[in-house]
Amino acid sequence: MEDQKIYIIGAGLAGLVAALELEKAGFSPIILEKSHRVGGRIKTDQHDGFLLDHGFQVLNTAYPEVKKYLDLDALNLKTFDPGAVILDGSESYIITDPIRNPLKILGMAFSKVGTMLDKIKMFSLTRELKQKSFEEIFNSASLPTHQYLKKYGFSDQIIANFFKPFFRGVFLEMHLNTSSRMFEYVFKMFAMGHAAVPAKGMGEVPEMLRRQLSKTQIYFDSGVKEIIGNQINLENGSVITADRIIVAVQPDRIMPQMQGQFGQARSVLNLYFSTQKSFLARPMIGLLTRSQVVNNLVFMDDVSQEYSGNGRSLLSVTVLENVLEEKELIPIVQRELEEVSGIKAEFFKFVKSYSIYHALPVVEDLRYEIPFTECQVTDSVYLAGDYLLNGSINAAMRSGRTAAEAIVYSYVPTH
Ligand SMILES: Cc1cc2nc3c(=O)[nH]c(=O)nc-3n(C[C@H](O)[C@H](O)[C@H](O)COP(=O)(O)OP(=O)(O)OC[C@H]3O[C@@H](n4cnc5c(N)ncnc54)[C@H](O)[C@@H]3O)c2cc1C
Repeated sequence: MEDQKIYIIGAGLAGLVAALELEKAGFSPIILEKSHRVGGRIKTDQHDGFLLDHGFQVLNTAYPEVKKYLDLDALNLKTFDPGAVILDGSESYIITDPIRNPLKILGMAFSKVGTMLDKIKMFSLTRELKQKSFEEIFNSASLPTHQYLKKYGFSDQIIANFFKPFFRGVFLEMHLNTSSRMFEYVFKMFAMGHAAVPAKGMGEVPEMLRRQLSKTQIYFDSGVKEIIGNQINLENGSVITADRIIVAVQPDRIMPQMQGQFGQARSVLNLYFSTQKSFLARPMIGLLTRSQVVNNLVFMDDVSQEYSGNGRSLLSVTVLENVLEEKELIPIVQRELEEVSGIKAEFFKFVKSYSIYHALPVVEDLRYEIPFTECQVTDSVYLAGDYLLNGSINAAMRSGRTAAEAIVYSYVPTH
């Protein structure tokens, strides 16, 4: 096994998990990574005393692959309080744990977001989805989420005040056109686990995977231009011949024969501001129901103090489907922040922005897993990455595991 030349393209979660599994089976794989660090879409920068994640995202502690590959205690996870602060113009109210404990929410607080019937529906949906297996969820009929919610009997009020702003931030699209399979999957995960970030930022997730590798070599700044047969052509002109290749990036660009086989991506803009102190003062997501541009916000230092080492508060703001230039957008965001907080716009100091073009893949046929034989596309090439299944940390890890298992299987003698 040691002498087999197994190359993995991409050091995101899918590539790292594939390497881990190959190591366990006795291989010593080589990862070729275009950038200068591991993590792909999960990265954390240090900037001016702050920790800045590339886009607001959370780790759900109920994800099965997360439990398998990460030591959650060692990650020093900081959990969000379940629920949300609804920032409804100048009014704000807290909905505590609407997914897990809807019946416990005080009538008055709930009446601002939904009806008594919504409360009961929420309760029954939670119970149903906790029972429903991943297989059943991903084999269910697929409806756009907005239709699914209406069909389930939720009122327009709760759809507008809770589901829309919350799931827009998860799906990274405005109209909840994403499949109900993804909705059920995410809802189930929120009902069963906690949304969390590692104390030192989301970048700790891929770092923990990388630290578990002992026989894998990672070459950074090694972008792959094209794969032809079992030959890898690098952007720097080098040519490598491999026994097996795992393509842990969307393959369209490097495998001409796969062009057009995978969908588009959803993009997102993440803006960071610093303020003297948090106006939420709790580790909770804030959902804006009436704004033009800001969808959701979080004070990251309310969740983990380590996100700010300079005594100021760090506000992460998510903007979807942005069409404005940054210099036009920032004052609009600052005004919206003033409206919901009462704090003057100029006190929100712009820190940095991340415009993420390929944030989530648009997957037509969302799946939880594929049989390991299905990810093999040629004699020597295997695919991995969230684009095969669904846009999530769990899917990326799962796909990496599946591709590695397929390779291990290919070495099993047939007689
Ligand atoms: C803003 C945002 C919010 C999100 N929120 C959540 C969330 O809350 N919960 C959740 O579960 N998921 C979330 N996700 C999704 C999750 O981050 C991804 O599903 C997961 O990280 C994808 O991992 P991957 O390994 O499949 O791909 P990637 O992370 O994209 O990894 C691909 C790697 O390949 C490298 N590469 C690309 N091209 C080449 C090339 N030609 N040669 C060599 N290397 C190459 C890239 O540099 C990268 O390192 C979010 C994503 C974003 C961006």
